[in-house]
Amino acid sequence: MSQTNLYRRYQPDVIAQLEYAEPAWWFMFKSGQLLVQEHDGAVSLPVSRTAEELGIHPVRTQYLGTLENRPCFSAELAPDTQEPFGMEFRGLRSLYGAIDEDLFYLAGRAVQIVNWDRNHQYCGSCGKPTVSLERERAKRCLDCSLTSFPRLSPAIITAILKPGQILLAHAPHFPEKMYSLIAGFVEPGESLEECVQREIMEEVGIKVKNIRYFGSQPWPFPDSLMIGFIADYDCGEIAVDGVELSDAAWFKFGSLPELPPSVSIARKIIDSVVTEPLTKV
Ligand SMILES: [Zn+2]
Repeated sequence: MSQTNLYRRYQPDVIAQLEYAEPAWWFMFKSGQLLVQEHDGAVSLPVSRTAEELGIHPVRTQYLGTLENRPCFSAELAPDTQEPFGMEFRGLRSLYGAIDEDLFYLAGRAVQIVNWDRNHQYCGSCGKPTVSLERERAKRCLDCSLTSFPRLSPAIITAILKPGQILLAHAPHFPEKMYSLIAGFVEPGESLEECVQREIMEEVGIKVKNIRYFGSQPWPFPDSLMIGFIADYDCGEIAVDGVELSDAAWFKFGSLPELPPSVSIARKIIDSVVTEPLTKV
């Protein structure tokens, strides 16, 4: 379905022990790109006791916990940071399938914590400096006590089905021929199921029924949590506004257009529903 269980190997924490036996994994980001190294064609993350050992001086660092007893740190690097010899900065999406899956999802966690830390140095209410709490991932204003947590933006994504067919849509910002599922951010005060109904009505003008949960996936571009559903067509004719979506249509399972990459929950849902009838035979 979506990602495997990160917590088999990963123990989250916010304060590092003073002494740790193993050198650490470093999730270092410069302008949203992750520092990686390549050995014999395999991509991995730098391992070191300190960032300085790698010749790098981060703007700030955060402790993430341990992965199989190896400490994990995230770090924000200045935009003019030079990559050490043998290393390079890579976009996170390009690393799916290239690095260990747990490291990939931890990198998604890391980049969000790096950005949150940078953007919450001062209180959003009174503008005074904040401090990091020791028992949880949070920052508190010393003056007015406003507490901030890393922001997540939940978004629904839904496969709409007729027998043997799936509704797929093209948005202007997609690659030219790619079609995907209907998705949208959850609004304050609505349930996930209401969000599914509202987004589908707004974007393609149809009603759905039998909404069922598929699975979820963190999507750190920049801070979404994608919540996947499958729903059945109820009534209405497809109508797109030409702005948010430029096209939407029913596609037979056997003749699908270009689809999103396998890293996305959209693709996992599509693969799941179009192969389901075959596996049931
Ligand atoms: Zn304040």
